[in-house]
Amino acid sequence: MSNANKTSASYKDFNLQYIAGEWQEGQDDSVNTDTNPYNGETLVAIKQATKDQLNEAFAEAKKAQVEWAQKTPAERAQVLYNVVNIFDQRQDEIINWLVKESGSTQVKAMVEWGSARAITLEAASFPSRVHGEIRPSNIPGKENFIYREPIGVIAVISPWNFPLHLTQRSIAPALALGNAVVLKPASDTPVTGGLLLAKIFEEVGLPKGLLNVVVGAGSEIGDAIVEHDVPGLVSFTGSTDVGKHIGKLANGGDYIKQVALELGGNSPFVVLKDADLEQAVRAAAFGKFLHQGQICIAINRIIVEDSLYDEFVSRFKAHVETLKVGDPAQPDTAVGPIINKQQLESLKEKIAKAQEEGAKMILSGEIQGQVVPPHIFTEVTREMDLSKNEVFGPLVGIIRAKDEADALSIANDSMYGLSSAVFTKDMATGLRFARGIKAGMTHINDISVNDESFMAFGGEKNSGIGRFNGEWILEEFTTVHWISVQHQPRDYPF
Ligand code: NAD
Repeated sequence: MSNANKTSASYKDFNLQYIAGEWQEGQDDSVNTDTNPYNGETLVAIKQATKDQLNEAFAEAKKAQVEWAQKTPAERAQVLYNVVNIFDQRQDEIINWLVKESGSTQVKAMVEWGSARAITLEAASFPSRVHGEIRPSNIPGKENFIYREPIGVIAVISPWNFPLHLTQRSIAPALALGNAVVLKPASDTPVTGGLLLAKIFEEVGLPKGLLNVVVGAGSEIGDAIVEHDVPGLVSFTGSTDVGKHIGKLANGGDYIKQVALELGGNSPFVVLKDADLEQAVRAAAFGKFLHQGQICIAINRIIVEDSLYDEFVSRFKAHVETLKVGDPAQPDTAVGPIINKQQLESLKEKIAKAQEEGAKMILSGEIQGQVVPPHIFTEVTREMDLSKNEVFGPLVGIIRAKDEADALSIANDSMYGLSSAVFTKDMATGLRFARGIKAGMTHINDISVNDESFMAFGGEKNSGIGRFNGEWILEEFTTVHWISVQHQPRDYPF
């Protein structure tokens, strides 16, 4: 294992793929051109992987995993601790990549670096937290042992919006728990969503073959990853549409496997009549506009009780007007660029549709390149597109609720159930309201961002299946093997 404290030159050669512990050129004719969403600069051109290369990655992962699972908990934990050290040494390099590849503002890049670091540190505790059980038996002289074993090889498919963290939150626990990984990062973020992490794990001496990063179009190799006979689990984070497709595929082909699906959201942010308005306004602005709203747990609907509605709207608008919009590399920028042209077009359509449907646009601004300034809409109803669908951009509708019961009914009027928030000074009201929301996560007087490494992170309804972190991921990324021992001769009936 290499010394994690040495200082090294910046990583390079991101045009190559990390397969079977070697940096190889993709063998497909197609090229993934990775660009900076703020200025259009080409960062790297990557020849994409073929299905043969994918097969090689799975075959090597399968081989490498056998020995890795035999390592002591301390040996596996040490790899994760060394990765944390590299995160610290290379903080500027990692932040810089997040800014230029994913259009992260400095604030978002710091949040993401911190979350990915925290999850790695947490994962370092996992090898020693896995334990089995001894269960009784109704058969005299028999004992039952439950072993918790690694799954084997885990396929990870990750999105572009929080690429470093959302990839690391699957691969760090997977490796810590004795599995091998074949990862496909999103095409918009092949470096921060995969290749950069491969460089880090390589630097700390992770044995070859345990982590493979295969860069290819989801539409080209995505199905082959999910249908492959080697992985025992597909850990997917992305949109609900692709998640549904993966869920069907994983159990409709020749090889049945588990799926963990972390999908889209439509988070309600509810302000009740006794809320601390200043806190609610600041939390709403941060929870809505961090990373231009391109976060699964971003606030999608603001729901305000009637008596506070007008004051909330005017203070929220005044606060959002102060946010700096533009170059994400500037330290004080709050709202940077949208990831790609397709997402930009979908936001333009949403702005037009909101107006067609009768919402009142009280804040807007000129779209420059891929930078969309914050747009605020009032007089929004629960039936409108802005309320029904995931926005994934810096647009927000504010809905008026008659009273607490109406606010709860609006909050639950969604096919998603990922995150949610309620602001009230009364804890009994807050808890009652929170427990009434059908969602994986609800915050009273706060929002989701910043504490992801400890949350039981996951959703209800169309937001997915499964939970990240803590005891939940220990179970999800391992499997149970029941072994019974008959200690004395048994009296069989025949
Ligand atoms: P996406 O579903 O388009 O892509 C996610 C990943 O799936 C990418 O790597 C993509 O290449 C791959 N993919 C696409 N088609 C595939 C196929 N047929 N087979 C296999 N893989 C395929 O999502 P996105 O646009 O990258 O991310 C945004 C979405 O992700 C939003 O809906 C957001 O809410 C959701 N998201 C959810 C969470 C969560 O934890 N619940 C976190 C972040 C993002």
